[in-house]
Amino acid sequence: MIHATETDNPINRAVENPKAFIRNDQYNFIKDQTKILVVGQTSATDAEVLSVLRHLAHEKVFKQFPILTDQQKKILNPLIQVKELSDAESFLEQLQPYIVPFKAVTADNVKKLFPKAKKLKGPKLENTNFYKTSYLAWTESANLMYLVADLTDQLIGVQGSFTRSTKQGICTICNSHSQVGLFIAKTKTSGSEQFIKRGNYICQDAEVCNGQVKTLDRLNDFVGQFQK
Ligand SMILES: [Zn+2]
Repeated sequence: MIHATETDNPINRAVENPKAFIRNDQYNFIKDQTKILVVGQTSATDAEVLSVLRHLAHEKVFKQFPILTDQQKKILNPLIQVKELSDAESFLEQLQPYIVPFKAVTADNVKKLFPKAKKLKGPKLENTNFYKTSYLAWTESANLMYLVADLTDQLIGVQGSFTRSTKQGICTICNSHSQVGLFIAKTKTSGSEQFIKRGNYICQDAEVCNGQVKTLDRLNDFVGQFQK
């Protein structure tokens, strides 16, 4: 069993493990479905209801993947047997070797994404678990936030001002109720030379957000709106 550790190098891992096929967001989605099944088991007593619930979870998980080989289906199939928390844990443990890390990013890559930023400190890459990452985000000063996402296999950098909110709210990226802040960045409206500022509430803590992202659609839309 290969365990995903923080010291693993994503580049080596991708070469060593061509079998990896589950992205962080897809893994979070699967994890969420196992939670639903475990809760369902404790609250519903009707066997038929539980069976429907399990098949539904199975179907939803399969839909997260445009293509699945027979081998990959076999890896995901045990979801249907998840009843207890321990079943969920061992199932999720078995998925670990198949998780695709975030694109290998170096400090130089990050600097190139933000050519105008002088003395960019960048994210703490050595502390980043790439297997639990859908996007990178960090603050340079109290209210300046930088994000790096992988938009259709291309690294995209977005920078903006960030004001922490004292109230909880819904994050634009992970769609969860979370400790958020207002991220404001410039965006160009199509066909116009004029910049407009656009604000979105997003999680204050990118690590928390990355643990809650269950689809890349919102992240891609969020990042996409700032592309010219
Ligand atoms: Zn979030």
